[in-house]
Amino acid sequence: MKKISANYIFPGNSTPIKNGVVVIDDTGKIEAVLDPEKDTINWEEVEQYDGIICPGFVNTHCHLELSYLKGKIEENTQLHGFVEKLMAIRDNVTEQERWFAIQLAEQEMISNGIVAVGDISNGNTSFHQKSKRNIKYHTFIEVFGLKEEKAIEIIERAKSLKEIYPHATRISITPHAPYSMSAKLLQQINKESNDFITIHNQETEGENELFQSRSGKMYEQLSKFSEAIKSWEATGENSLPSYLDSLADGKKILLVHNTYTSKEDLVFAKHYGDKIYWCFCPNANKYIEGKQPDYSLFINEKCTIGTDSLASNWGLSILEELKTISKKNPAIQLQKLLKWATYNGAEFLEFDGLGSIEKGKTPGLNLIKDVDLENMCLIEKSDAKPLIKLQQ
Ligand SMILES: [Zn+2]
Repeated sequence: MKKISANYIFPGNSTPIKNGVVVIDDTGKIEAVLDPEKDTINWEEVEQYDGIICPGFVNTHCHLELSYLKGKIEENTQLHGFVEKLMAIRDNVTEQERWFAIQLAEQEMISNGIVAVGDISNGNTSFHQKSKRNIKYHTFIEVFGLKEEKAIEIIERAKSLKEIYPHATRISITPHAPYSMSAKLLQQINKESNDFITIHNQETEGENELFQSRSGKMYEQLSKFSEAIKSWEATGENSLPSYLDSLADGKKILLVHNTYTSKEDLVFAKHYGDKIYWCFCPNANKYIEGKQPDYSLFINEKCTIGTDSLASNWGLSILEELKTISKKNPAIQLQKLLKWATYNGAEFLEFDGLGSIEKGKTPGLNLIKDVDLENMCLIEKSDAKPLIKLQQ
């Protein structure tokens, strides 16, 4: 058993405790959280640290299998340019290089305090690493295809990938993006997916233009790949209100990116009550589009944090993502940011033992150092490291 303390304990889902003490057993399970204002503490038994202790981070959006693309795609290509570059280089890499990059990427996440990941897979290259369970993964097999007649074939391929996954209950089928699906494929996904799905949403301006008026950069790019897009009908609305009905079906939905999500879109999403989660990948947005969501619109929503992949990010660190949000919208409180980075992600991915420092949970603990404790905000040199690692 260990007793550890720092200037503040941020439990993830409740108010920070000044000089709080976490009592933790040898398996990493929380036995108690003590508040010196209310509880008697024998400080001689307590390991004390400078900074903030919070639960292990939950990264709700990554593409581990793209790790080999670190530094290979230049910045500010915008999404259509990014996809083109990715397609041009993705086949020139050996299996070994991919595996090696995946291992390194996982190691980087662990040393940055990430304990769970919602990871997108298009193939099986990441499966072996995931079978080691160094991190808790939920894998989303991502499908896309605009041709109606291919829908069944695409779903069958996804189902066979699912069957070879080493952890049968931690894999499900999910749609890539609203612009890359035929109606039939969406129907099939609704049949095959579990009760939570994720989709890339409004990452680029061209996505809204496509739905509003069947024009713009995304439309031009899709026309190069597929005849099917030419028979699409514009809805006259933004992307989100155009497709959410056909997906919702009582499921929880994690909308990823939301860079071009408007106030009106948020009002529309309210119809789905507490089923909607908003995942931000701030540094990937900076990397690809040079633009970020207006996070202040989402203050009262259930938000989560993703790193996206190393193809479009400089590293895999949830804390770095939080710093970027803080810089853009400094009014968002650290308590809220840390809830996005821990509790909300664990809730969405249904990792019940993670996401908060509460009796009976085994969330892993991070120490965030070099925090501005007076103003309670992150600064450039703030740094997070695992203090208690997640045990297998
Ligand atoms: Zn993504």
